Amino acid sequence: MKKVRDVFWSYKKFQYKIEIISDNPNPDTLKDNIVYVVGGKQYIKWAYLKCPCGCNDIIMLSLDQKKYPSWSVKQGKLGQATISPSIDKLDGCHSHFFIKKGRLIWAQYSRNF
Ligand SMILES: [Zn+2]
Repeated sequence: MKKVRDVFWSYKKFQYKIEIISDNPNPDTLKDNIVYVVGGKQYIKWAYLKCPCGCNDIIMLSLDQKKYPSWSVKQGKLGQATISPSIDKLDGCHSHFFIKKGRLIWAQYSRNF
């Protein structure tokens, strides 16, 4: 199974995949194109990802449905990430984008480009 997955990756069928980690990540070690979900199946609290525009900011999303705003993160068969709703960065670069089935879709081009 792992081999099939690697082949898909090498062909860049999708960009974003999910990695589940047990503790908050060290911001210096975050890789591009990975959505880090903190927790396990029983408790998921936060998702972290690097801003795709290249500004190097870390975006932190609350996955706690009882709070607002919150997001939901889904994992496809090959690990590809879907995040809903869209991610709208309110500070810094003001990026606004979707991640659907591992693909990055810009909602609008940032005024700061
Ligand atoms: Zn950015």
